[in-house]
Amino acid sequence: MKFLEDVTDKQREAITHIDGPLLIVAGAGSGKTRVITRRIGYLMSEGISPYNILAITFTNKAANEMAERVKKFSSHKGMWVSTFHKMCSRILRKDIELLGYSKDFTIYDTVDQLNRIKSIMADLEIDTAHWKPRSIISSISNAKNKLIDHERFAATASDIYHQMVAKIYKKYDTMLKSGNALDFDDLLIKTVELLKIRPDVLSSYQERFKYILIDEYQDTNFVQYAISRLLAQKYKNICVTGDPDQSIYGWRGADLRNIMDFEKDYPDARVVLLEQNYRSTKNILLAASSVIQKNKYRKQKEIWTENEHGEKIKTIHCENEHSEAEEIAKTIRALRGNGIKYTEIALFYRTNAQSRTLEIALRNAGIPYVIVGGVEFYRRKEIKDILAYIRLCVNPCDDSALERAINTPARGIGTTTVKKIKEWAESRESTLFNAIGIVDAIHEVTGKSAAAIKRFYELIMVLRHMPETSVEKTLKSIIDKTGYIHFLRKSEEKESEDRIANVEELVNAAHEYDANHTDGSLQGFLEEVALISDLDTVEDMAEAVTLMTLHTAKGLEFPVVFISGMEEGLLPHSESRISEEEIEEERRLCYVGITRAMKRLFLTYTKRRMRYGQLIPCVASRFLDEIHADCMDRLDKTENHFSYEYQGKSNSWENDAVEACDVLSESDVFPSGNVRTFLNGEVVRHPVFGIGRVLEMQGSNEKASVKVSFNVGGTKNLMLAYAKLEKV
Ligand code: ATP
Ligand code: MG
Repeated sequence: MKFLEDVTDKQREAITHIDGPLLIVAGAGSGKTRVITRRIGYLMSEGISPYNILAITFTNKAANEMAERVKKFSSHKGMWVSTFHKMCSRILRKDIELLGYSKDFTIYDTVDQLNRIKSIMADLEIDTAHWKPRSIISSISNAKNKLIDHERFAATASDIYHQMVAKIYKKYDTMLKSGNALDFDDLLIKTVELLKIRPDVLSSYQERFKYILIDEYQDTNFVQYAISRLLAQKYKNICVTGDPDQSIYGWRGADLRNIMDFEKDYPDARVVLLEQNYRSTKNILLAASSVIQKNKYRKQKEIWTENEHGEKIKTIHCENEHSEAEEIAKTIRALRGNGIKYTEIALFYRTNAQSRTLEIALRNAGIPYVIVGGVEFYRRKEIKDILAYIRLCVNPCDDSALERAINTPARGIGTTTVKKIKEWAESRESTLFNAIGIVDAIHEVTGKSAAAIKRFYELIMVLRHMPETSVEKTLKSIIDKTGYIHFLRKSEEKESEDRIANVEELVNAAHEYDANHTDGSLQGFLEEVALISDLDTVEDMAEAVTLMTLHTAKGLEFPVVFISGMEEGLLPHSESRISEEEIEEERRLCYVGITRAMKRLFLTYTKRRMRYGQLIPCVASRFLDEIHADCMDRLDKTENHFSYEYQGKSNSWENDAVEACDVLSESDVFPSGNVRTFLNGEVVRHPVFGIGRVLEMQGSNEKASVKVSFNVGGTKNLMLAYAKLEKV
């Protein structure tokens, strides 16, 4: 049987287990995901219908991959392979009417949520400067994920903060309900609610999903746990996999106890431990184990590999984030020169903001990359603006979308007018869309504002009644009829070119959506956009390096991995003081990062880094010190080591990895006295900032500086003697 090829006895035990609960606990790279996939194939070969199988993965991407693999074994028609959120939105689309919503509900993402909370706070006259909307959202989300509704929350709110949150929570819920909208948390909660109040619905899903498989169970939260319990209650054919050392979503409510207590929940559970790692070299595995062993709150578990020792891990100390990025780019080019494909290389960072500098360096080195951050794209203002119009086409009662669209592009409807309409609508429990439809009845809104609102209402009506031929066409009409691109062109903003390109890219996204969905719809498109998470945007780029946050890297593997920013404050990440528990989660995150690597691992860190416009000194991450010295080579590329590096070049890594790339020339390191000059208007290239145009030269000789306006990164004043500028 294909799915029993190349498996160990332990893996076979898990794959061929059919009825009853099964727990697979194992370290990174031991084949958990592979076992789940093969087990699906095995179940089907034993005559179980794919219709009776539910597989849950952590990301949509993982779900797609799993479905693809299963397809290779046999037809998987009728099987559900999805994330919890997607599964829930599917269940709700079918039956949410039983909870008093209509089926075309809107899904609010985190930005919509933030806007709603801010506007509620404004209504309640709560100072957003004093109380942070984001922390209020977290409090509400935490409550929701513990299935605490606003009434129960209010009943137990003992201090001023919680009493205030209770008020906001209540209003927020009312707003969601009247706008026929759900936020991400609601997708899960409403599903639990539905399954609890309607035993008939629950029973139909229990009968349907007789076999449930959940990957990455260590990162499930309480509600997800509740859903899986409910669904598995009847047949108890639930198989979960997990690695407690890879639990990295505690900050989002994931609860390690779910996996720790599995045997309590299902006393007759069979437990399979996998200890052999198939992914990484011995050196990489040693590095990973030496770090994770420092966690106090963990169950000791062994992991070993028969793979080769491989190369030592390289840690590279760099001067600042630009030199770090350049160093990475240089090394990637060298690796490529040695026959490694870009797709085999991944570059991780702890925070999204770090990607900017890395991107610039990669772009300048001519290295194609794909950045995992669809959310980032879809969070951009112009994208949200256009999406608001699509949302209105689908569901005009979506107040959040209407508020965003009403004066974007500017059409003379000021905030005071909007506030008046909102007050009018709220006092009559009407939606904003209804209110603007009868604006004449709102006596507080008159004259030009009223006329502008009527025009806006008509625009939405026109858009709503356009024939829905394809999402792409609708989107183009929206852009056309709202004058959005024209509005961007007119704007004085530096980023307007960028914004236009983004809007155009959204059209590409719609095009792709149409191409992939013969039965697509605007709603389907919105759903796909809303469900794309940070974790989901590795596009299928044939030849590109992958960039992503460490969190996103979970479950993936790459022959070559770079982890940048291995510094205190970044990894472990800390805004202020950080508890021991949080440090442990950061350590697990570091463990996840390290264990993604199959053959080579580079860890980079800097001496200084720009933060809030200031270069601040950095300290190497404690996790670097925790890595066993035997598996690591340390390289120092900071400036005071330049001459050593330059003359020495004795390091083995230098020889095998950097050979193919440009070696620093003497003039790079020791600027000569003879500084060249540039003419105003001349086009130049800078190794970090890329292409730019010279605005002005100042001073002379060593003191000469030049002001350049770069395409990326804006205007910079550079010392000519050091700037490495060249004419293009
Ligand atoms: P993670 O904890 O990172 O999610 P995992 O336990 O899910 O890891 P997999 O991704 O399933 O591990 O497997 C890791 C790698 O090892 C994959 O490339 C997989 O194909 C390979 N692998 C697993 N088991 C075997 C085996 N018995 N023989 C050969 N290769 C294997
Ligand atoms: Mg896995």
